[in-house]
Amino acid sequence: MRKKLVAGNWKMNTSFSEAQKLASEVANMVKDEALLDGTDVVICVPFPYLSTAAALVADSPVKVGAQNCSDKPKGAYTGETSTAMLASMEIPYVIIGHSERREYFNEDNQLLAAKTDIALENGLTPIFCCGESLETREAGNHFDFVCQQLTESLFHLSAEQLGKIVIAYEPIWAIGTGKTASAAQAQEMHEQLRAHLAGKYGAEIADAIPILYGGSVKPGNAKEIFAGKDVDGGLVGGASLDSRGFTDIVKAI
Ligand code: PEP
Repeated sequence: MRKKLVAGNWKMNTSFSEAQKLASEVANMVKDEALLDGTDVVICVPFPYLSTAAALVADSPVKVGAQNCSDKPKGAYTGETSTAMLASMEIPYVIIGHSERREYFNEDNQLLAAKTDIALENGLTPIFCCGESLETREAGNHFDFVCQQLTESLFHLSAEQLGKIVIAYEPIWAIGTGKTASAAQAQEMHEQLRAHLAGKYGAEIADAIPILYGGSVKPGNAKEIFAGKDVDGGLVGGASLDSRGFTDIVKAI
């Protein structure tokens, strides 16, 4: 059975005290491991709060992730954070290739391939984001575009390495806009992505990779979206800033 996962992406939000409150509340609300039935719950917090958040959720099943990482191992890269640093803090997850990183920081598929490599080398689980713009969807090129993102960033990996990745399909037009892909649109893309992975790595490997949906997931739509047979959870932005709402999304799975 594939792993299910709900990850919150706090982005560049919360003061330190708000972050402490939010992490503690999520940990308290998600404390019953048995109820999660194998679903991983992750909060991807801003870099300065990583170790505090990790300590606050330590007695719960909640795990902590970073929102980005450097593609370089170490050295004179002012302001960057390496995956070796994250590993040394026992941070298990890192988001790679969020559309905001692609758009505002010019991260391309080649750079994201390098980030994925170094995250895996250091034992982190990459939550690798992909997704098309509205323009691409309206032109009818969305399947090819997103498959190409996977090809260029992931298809150099061995099957064993690929098996350690979580993919998040996040249509850009649905991120932070309140516009969600319909459950059918999400399922359709996830199925295409899984078939694309199967074409390169075989069905057994492709079937084991969790593919999350992200884009305006809320307590009110999570259940319907997560019902898709190839939808293995969600990457949640805005709604993860409210502990009750985020927990309700976790329960929807
Ligand atoms: C995200 O940032 O990954 C995201 C999906 O945001 P939102 O849920 O706010 O659309």
